[in-house]
Amino acid sequence: MKVVVLGSGTMGAGIAQSASLAGFRTVLFDVDPEALRRGLDRTRAQIEDGVRRGKITPELRDAALAGLSGGGTLAEAAGDAGLVIEAAPENLDLKRRIFEELDGICRAETILATNTSSLSIAKIASATRSPGRVIGLHFFNPPHIMKLVEIVRSERTTDETLEASRAFVAALGKEAIVVRDSPGFATSRLGLALGLEAMRMLEQGVAGAVDIDRAMELGYGHPMGPLKVSDLVGLDVRLSIAEILHRELGVEQFRPPENLRALVREGKLGRKTGQGFHRWDKPAGEKP
Ligand code: NAD
Repeated sequence: MKVVVLGSGTMGAGIAQSASLAGFRTVLFDVDPEALRRGLDRTRAQIEDGVRRGKITPELRDAALAGLSGGGTLAEAAGDAGLVIEAAPENLDLKRRIFEELDGICRAETILATNTSSLSIAKIASATRSPGRVIGLHFFNPPHIMKLVEIVRSERTTDETLEASRAFVAALGKEAIVVRDSPGFATSRLGLALGLEAMRMLEQGVAGAVDIDRAMELGYGHPMGPLKVSDLVGLDVRLSIAEILHRELGVEQFRPPENLRALVREGKLGRKTGQGFHRWDKPAGEKP
């Protein structure tokens, strides 16, 4: 099966890596040629790194690299795809435009998946004439390492689309959970609830950022505390998801705390800018 990954940024490049290593013919597509080049370079470099660390055999690398390509028009890339995974920026209008176009380009049996972390699958699907084939396949950062894929099913997603998506996730060697299309799904809603409460505790002087993170790392066995996770995701991304959940769920728990708004206003977006709730030595993306 041919898999097309649309958007070669943080998520798209890693998703393409997982698909090509699982033996799928994989095409990475981006509207920005420079972003596409960076995405392909990163994917290839990460596969080489896997070989150096003994996680990927040279034979598997050769097969994955031979099956991975990028470029062309969207029609050329997606016209004969079995699955398209959209990983473009988190913007409903943009994603609706992309899905409307894909609906016209792709064959009737092609599954159209979105990697959105917070937007309604039903609202994206309603831009198409075939909402039954639209589904959420929510990967986690970094996607070539994280085991989970949250499958998000709208009321109109068909059983066939769900089952084919489960099979795809299993073929990647990842684990799936299936969640109803609701604001923030399971992972973003739970992760954000913890992150925002940690920010409020910091604001109220309950403890410092390092100790709040340690509370969950050492007390509850989380691999990373909630403020570090927020820095890693990007504070701008966290803020926009908090605003969506606050509006859609209508509960105070998701009102963005003032310290989060202030950091975003100052351009302190977490790891990618070197400063968020913590200082980070190296901005993300510096190393392939
Ligand atoms: P990103 O900004 O790193 O990459 C997005 C890419 O999409 C860019 O390279 C951009 O040029 C490209 N793009 C823009 N318009 C496009 C179009 N019309 N067609 C094709 N490509 C287009 O974004 P990201 O962090 O990879 O996030 C992508 C999606 O994944 C978002 O929906 C986001 O919510 C979701 N997500 C992100 C994370 C994360 O930790 N960053 C985790 C899970 C899910």
